[in-house]
Amino acid sequence: MLKSIAVLTSGGDSPGMNAATRAVVRTAIFEKVAVWGVYNGYQGMIADDIHELTSRSVGDIIQRGGTFLGTARSEEFRTEAGRKKALKNLQSHGIEGLVIIGGDGSLRGGALLSELGNMPIVGIPGTIDNDVWGTDYTIGSDTAVNTILDAINKLRDTASSHRRIIVIEVMGRKSGWLAMMAGIAGGAEYILVPEAKFDLSQICRELKSDYERGRRYSIIVVAEGVGSGMEIGKKIGQETGIDTRVSVLGHIQRGGSPSVEDRLKASILGERAALAVISGVSNRVFGFNAGKVVGIDLRDIVNNTKTLDPELVRLANVLA
Ligand code: ADP
Repeated sequence: MLKSIAVLTSGGDSPGMNAATRAVVRTAIFEKVAVWGVYNGYQGMIADDIHELTSRSVGDIIQRGGTFLGTARSEEFRTEAGRKKALKNLQSHGIEGLVIIGGDGSLRGGALLSELGNMPIVGIPGTIDNDVWGTDYTIGSDTAVNTILDAINKLRDTASSHRRIIVIEVMGRKSGWLAMMAGIAGGAEYILVPEAKFDLSQICRELKSDYERGRRYSIIVVAEGVGSGMEIGKKIGQETGIDTRVSVLGHIQRGGSPSVEDRLKASILGERAALAVISGVSNRVFGFNAGKVVGIDLRDIVNNTKTLDPELVRLANVLA
């Protein structure tokens, strides 16, 4: 049994990170284990921005989006010297184990940190992109997809009034999960994702003939990894001659009060991760797969890439 652990949030923030942090902190305190918060991600670990937390430190945060610990991207942590400094800072506070809440990149950083020494490290997938291998859920993805869905619903109202084509650009540089889920749920006509090929000229021809046959509006969801929504919208407008408007949702997708699913799952994973690291488990990431909590080898996550379920792509084509 460890006597002292730390928790940090890293990479892109996501709604529900606070609920996960709260669960880690309160589980540790319940187990009579000291718990420290590393502020501002790996950058804060290097800068020794590390402070002991109490049960009250995590009061009144379960409903808040973002992460009260702060998060950052750190170039220094990518170097071995940076990671050594970070580890030394943790050890200087008597910290014996670490819980990392973050995306693919943060977990990659955690795997490298664990190679340095005997500091047990466990992870929790926290990112709106839902792109962590071996899991079918990441903290924040549910809230984000609902935020996008809300935007699609609103844009649909105005699109139908004006007989417009609306292009909605959503987050997802490498992963089309957000676009695909929100697109299917929002009844989009086309969903463009980095994982699936598409022919924009063909889409324009189809749109034109649909409008000629009386279609009132079209919703096209574009993952940012496919290219600029603005450029795509411009091309569609020019090729079809139909009034086309573009909405880039941007950082709105990261914010907001976390959904029930994100709060509950973050709480469950937070407890599991804290109990594991306290008992000395290392190099495991606790996530959900097929509705159950699974502990996945951190190295497997780092060495594999999650792909978009081809069934979703197929379904989107059938329903469009
Ligand atoms: P996310 O965790 O959301 O995928 P990033 O990819 O930006 O976000 O990663 C967050 C931080 O994790 C980076 O700023 C960096 O400090 C660390 N990190 C990411 N990838 C690596 C890597 N290959 N080696 C070491 N540290 C990394």
